[in-house]
Amino acid sequence: MKQPFITLSEPAGSLTNCLVWVGESLDPTPCEGFAWREGRITEILTRADDGGPPPAYGILPGLVNAHTHVGDGFLPEAAVALTLEEAFFRPHGYKYRALESITAEDHIAHMTRFLQEMAATGTIAHADFREQGVEGARRLREASRVSGVRSFILSQLRDTPFTPKELTANQAPLPRAAREELLELMRISDGFSESTMNDLTDAAWREIRDITAAHHRVRAVHCLENAGYRTLSLKRTEKGDLEQALNLYDPDLIVHLTAASPEEIELLAASGKPAVINPRANAALGLPLPPVAALLQAGVPLLLGTDNGILNGPDLFRELDFTWRLARSQRGDGRNPHPREILKTATANFRHSPWGTEIPGSLSPGLPANFIIVDLLAPCFQNSRDLTATLVTRTAPEHILATVRNGRVLHQREPRHD
Ligand SMILES: [Zn+2]
Repeated sequence: MKQPFITLSEPAGSLTNCLVWVGESLDPTPCEGFAWREGRITEILTRADDGGPPPAYGILPGLVNAHTHVGDGFLPEAAVALTLEEAFFRPHGYKYRALESITAEDHIAHMTRFLQEMAATGTIAHADFREQGVEGARRLREASRVSGVRSFILSQLRDTPFTPKELTANQAPLPRAAREELLELMRISDGFSESTMNDLTDAAWREIRDITAAHHRVRAVHCLENAGYRTLSLKRTEKGDLEQALNLYDPDLIVHLTAASPEEIELLAASGKPAVINPRANAALGLPLPPVAALLQAGVPLLLGTDNGILNGPDLFRELDFTWRLARSQRGDGRNPHPREILKTATANFRHSPWGTEIPGSLSPGLPANFIIVDLLAPCFQNSRDLTATLVTRTAPEHILATVRNGRVLHQREPRHD
């Protein structure tokens, strides 16, 4: 059976005979109708499951990539022969030198294409640790505007404000120029990010926490990407970097946790804060894999990211598949967790993020019309005994017929099969 090309109209539209992954629990529900208007879902009309063949269209919440660096997406695989420190650490890491070498115009064009690839693979929004200060944020805003993908921009100061000596002494406040830059960032960015807790002094972290709070901006940081983060922090402050982050900076998003100990996982769970894991990026760098199973069992709200564009394309379905397998392997259980729990890390769990009102990551009447349409007539879905599991493990870009954010069609393609 040939799947007809669907015509999606803006700002209102509807689909009939579809399977909708409804609500925060992501239950696949047969529906007679799914409708939206002015950027919001207006109706999800369910019907009794009559045991017949599955509907032609699967409607899922649009995916959210909770950790990216799209700025280095113009350098695929440039880091395959480099260590984490050689490729990514300031001030002389390969990434930072390469970012200085590209013109603004070329950079915006590259980032726009990267965001369009996100839309083509089902992603409607991402949280980006954006380098290059105010100029970096400006470039990504433009790429976001053109592509229609929502960029939550978490800006980094353009240059490291402290010398290694000042960092070791851990006394200096934020220098005036850095403070002024931070205030400017508060106008253009959604929040602040820094590579590691070891990049700033305790006094600077407190100032940044207070300034971002006063401007209602989000705070994020990488923690425990490897054990070296903790070791250096202990040496300087007698506390590990995760404990430092929670005490001094009160972050809204904590990224990585690959080297987190059971005590650190407990500390994080008690804080109630969401963690963003990036298993494929960690694996590519030869780092430990994040303790997905332990984090899930501790009740930490988990989100998923693809991290640097140097290391990974933005297809979150690849990350979901890898993460699900990893979680089962770590748990030593062939039946748990169910792939639905992993799918939540790129959808419904986003309600625990600071942007959960704008993007709740689930589908119910009244919520934003952020969804993707999957071709359920493709052979893998036609024969599936567990559609949610097949979605997590087998969805390819060709299966994504449309990506819609706030009722706006960001991407659409014809079904590929006969
Ligand atoms: Zn990162």
